[in-house]
Amino acid sequence: MISLEEARELIVSACPILEGERRPLRAALGRVSAAAIVSGEDVPPFSTSSMDGFALRSADVARAPVLLPVVDSVMAGDGRAVEVGPGQAVRIMTGAPLPDGADAVCMVERTRVEDDGRAVLVEVAVGLGTAVRLPGSDIAAGSEVVPAGTVLSEAYLGVLARIGVESVEVHRPPTVGLLSTGDELREGSGSLPRGAIRDGNRPVLAALLEGAGYPIVDYGIIPDDAATLRKTIERAANRCDALVTSGGVSVGDLDIVRIVLQDMCGPQMHWMQVAIRPAKPLAFALVDGRVPVFGLPGNPVSSMVSFQLFARPALRKMAGHSQLVQPALSAIADVDLTREPDGKTHFTRVVAEVDSAGHLHVRPSGGQDSHQLLAMAQANGLAVLPEGTGVRAGEPVDVLLLDPDRLGFGAPPSAAFP
Ligand code: AMP
Ligand code: MG
Repeated sequence: MISLEEARELIVSACPILEGERRPLRAALGRVSAAAIVSGEDVPPFSTSSMDGFALRSADVARAPVLLPVVDSVMAGDGRAVEVGPGQAVRIMTGAPLPDGADAVCMVERTRVEDDGRAVLVEVAVGLGTAVRLPGSDIAAGSEVVPAGTVLSEAYLGVLARIGVESVEVHRPPTVGLLSTGDELREGSGSLPRGAIRDGNRPVLAALLEGAGYPIVDYGIIPDDAATLRKTIERAANRCDALVTSGGVSVGDLDIVRIVLQDMCGPQMHWMQVAIRPAKPLAFALVDGRVPVFGLPGNPVSSMVSFQLFARPALRKMAGHSQLVQPALSAIADVDLTREPDGKTHFTRVVAEVDSAGHLHVRPSGGQDSHQLLAMAQANGLAVLPEGTGVRAGEPVDVLLLDPDRLGFGAPPSAAFP
């Protein structure tokens, strides 16, 4: 057996990082920047007021209350050159350019308008720079706002728009071919002949790929026939950047993914028994020395776990990410998470919930056999049980969250946390 970390390292290091392409900002969410972006301008571009109030010279109101004549009024977007002379005030709205001569703004709530708006009583002293935003105080011209390798989040799209960038060089996400193998597989709603089952893996894997932003090419269900599989893999390698298969990687006579990849790729094919449960068998190969094939096991839970642990980090690398492996969080086991020692790391399907103190708790979601996809669907995390006899109720356990958006709330507070 090979360790999880060794297997992952072998796979990830063999995968290429895809080249950059230019995308409009609106189509760049979640993509990884392929080049650094330096701001050509200051944001804000001019000194501006952060309040509705009165622009003035702070020295004039040091002995407030002080009555000042109001000589002008500026709104956001006003391009006129406006000046505040000594002993004067200018009415100003949030976002308006600060008039020349002014060095502070007194918020309107600390003033009283007098003489029909021709004067203002400033009730309090305001220090130099109060309520003034200086040019470049958000983004300075010449600064690197997006280093290469940055994941373009929503806020980064706003940052780029604010410095006048309309398109951005980002890594291309891999186009991924997808197929299931097995003579027993059917899809759709038709009646099942004896011995047949419906394909549960492709819908899961397609959703995981598309959810990550990777275009897919669906090659459907491939029978346990070496020639057909080989032809399909060759087609996929010409069209896709990577291929994900399920089934056919164990030690059985008809485990054709293993057999065909061995045939096609020789030493570029790695058939592994990874020290994990579920998802022990795994095939990884580079077709034509360049297109990664992830040969995931057939059992539905195994294929999904295997995807998360191996294919996901590798595909993230291809898409330019530098954070590849999902970090584990620490949770409290609410019940015993038992297991037998067998030299493997176990991934238990768990429901992770947050208690009123914000601490994470886990309990098994259901049956833990590798065909029990319903318990996987009911789970939102994988508890990581290292070799041994498991974790007792109340003890800490690492958990990989499958979907932070499905993190429930309402676990009972635990005595384990003070
Ligand atoms: P295999 O690795 O091909 O021997 O498959 C292991 C187990 O997973 C067998 O019981 C298969 O019938 C089952 N299996 C394989 N592929 C799928 C699939 N796409 N959907 C549901 N079960 C599958
Ligand atoms: Mg099979």
